[in-house]
Amino acid sequence: MDRNFVLKALLVFALACAMLVAPVQAKKLNVVTSTTDLATLAQEVGGDRITVDAIAKGYQDPHFVEAKPSFLLKLRNADLLVSVGLQLEMGWLPPLITQSGNPRIQPGARGYLEAAQFAQVLDIPTGPVTRAEGDVHPMGNPHLWLDPDNGRRIAQGIANKLAEMQPGDAAYFRERLQDFEQRLTAAQKRWEEQMRPFRGRKVVTYHRSWPNFAKYFGLEVVGYVEPRPGIPPSPRHTLELIQLMKRDQVKVLIVEPYFDLKTPDSVARETGAKLVVLLPSVGGEKGVTDYFKLFDYDVALLASAFAAAQ
Ligand SMILES: [Zn+2]
Repeated sequence: MDRNFVLKALLVFALACAMLVAPVQAKKLNVVTSTTDLATLAQEVGGDRITVDAIAKGYQDPHFVEAKPSFLLKLRNADLLVSVGLQLEMGWLPPLITQSGNPRIQPGARGYLEAAQFAQVLDIPTGPVTRAEGDVHPMGNPHLWLDPDNGRRIAQGIANKLAEMQPGDAAYFRERLQDFEQRLTAAQKRWEEQMRPFRGRKVVTYHRSWPNFAKYFGLEVVGYVEPRPGIPPSPRHTLELIQLMKRDQVKVLIVEPYFDLKTPDSVARETGAKLVVLLPSVGGEKGVTDYFKLFDYDVALLASAFAAAQ
């Protein structure tokens, strides 16, 4: 019994020590992001002073993510939640935030950050704001991370937020950001060079995921397989699209990995265009593990499709 007592006392002592020491040693900001692209940007600037976890997988359509109980657990423990905004995650994230019961990450709280506020936003509607007819882009185009300049702006926004939340590491975050920006500038030169011969080329895309990408690389998106963002193709729209592609001699059809290929395949067959599955997000394929590899992958694939279509 004495021995038991000593063991118990030791255990209590050890636990007390652990509780005293742990918060100091393991003070890492727990960051959760809605998408993998935001996670990779947060990781670039946060380094080892934060932990980062994305909710959606890179091969999923970010508009439509099936909520799982494990997401709630992530959100419950988060210090900071970073989402894209512009209603990209509207179908699944707001109820998760509410249900998490975590006051730190509720909209308006210090630990809630929308990346879109830092980015150049395209396709901003001029008329009344509405999700009429199921349009999932009523506030402007949310696929804005596909312009590397926006990636830089978002990284800056995240770095500022991390510094605000963890002032002791502000210099560290600033250094990480500078390093990221330098590597990004070098990569941008490389990507621009690869794409330069194809400036002005016309493309058709399945979803409106690529306006920022197209603008950055000087491509012209002349049509979409979806009649409206989030609305599946209809026979009549597909027929009109085929006519348009023939008339404009569109040689490349870009499809996101999470769409059924039946309609795109038949459009490609009818028009002779080359179908290219480009990745809108980090993690869309094995090996595409960060922001740089995402553009490496897409630029290489697209450049070779254009070259083959000449
Ligand atoms: Zn979209």
